[in-house]
Amino acid sequence: MASANLDGIGMTSPRARARMVERLRAQGILNPKVLEAMAKVPRHRFVDEALASRAYEDTALPIGFGQTLSQPYTVARLAELAVGPRRPDKVLEVGTGSGYQTAILAQLAGTVYTVECIEALQKKARFRLYDLKIYNVKYAHCDGSQGWPKYAPYDVIVVTAAAWEIPDPLLKQLAPGGVLVIPVEQGPRQILKRITCTEAGYAVEDIEPVKFVPLLGGKG
Ligand code: SAH
Repeated sequence: MASANLDGIGMTSPRARARMVERLRAQGILNPKVLEAMAKVPRHRFVDEALASRAYEDTALPIGFGQTLSQPYTVARLAELAVGPRRPDKVLEVGTGSGYQTAILAQLAGTVYTVECIEALQKKARFRLYDLKIYNVKYAHCDGSQGWPKYAPYDVIVVTAAAWEIPDPLLKQLAPGGVLVIPVEQGPRQILKRITCTEAGYAVEDIEPVKFVPLLGGKG
């Protein structure tokens, strides 16, 4: 599977990465599989060389086209909320961006279906993941607020840009028991929400305030 051969890659900063993981633990990330994935994937490979030395700081970084790679805590938190204790078979990610969150999710799931509306960003991400031998990812260039109906339903849907409202197509593409994790604009701030598709309907939990770039197009 994906976790294939990341060892030995990112030799430039294994210690910095280990420190980042310790910080994540202190910040309350508990899922050992998520921490393992964060320890394994070389974050510095997902930003421009000029920024690589800052890759393991607890900060968001620009990835071009006005978009950002979220801080490590946020990436880990999304993964932890989305995946829980069991290994999902199919994960839909809206907003490929640099591909870093994709790479983390690919360690934790059977297949990641990732969609991105800026083609040039996705192309770069695809090359990076291929270089890192992460092959359990399918890519589409489209408006992710419509989801990716072709492979629905998904056990998990993760949205990495903030929506004005929860897009209906995403709810419809959740498998029974499935989980959608999405930042939603609420008054002056954004709240990370987790929606679980239960027999009785959609259960919504407010998790914590967050800061994401806006979801573009569609209902974004
Ligand atoms: N998860 C990314 C960071 C994402 S930034 C990473 O790890 O680097 C949010 C991304 O969502 C941007 O790349 C942006 O282009 C993309 N995006 C915004 N609105 C979108 C939409 N409607 N459909 C698909 N992608 C979208």
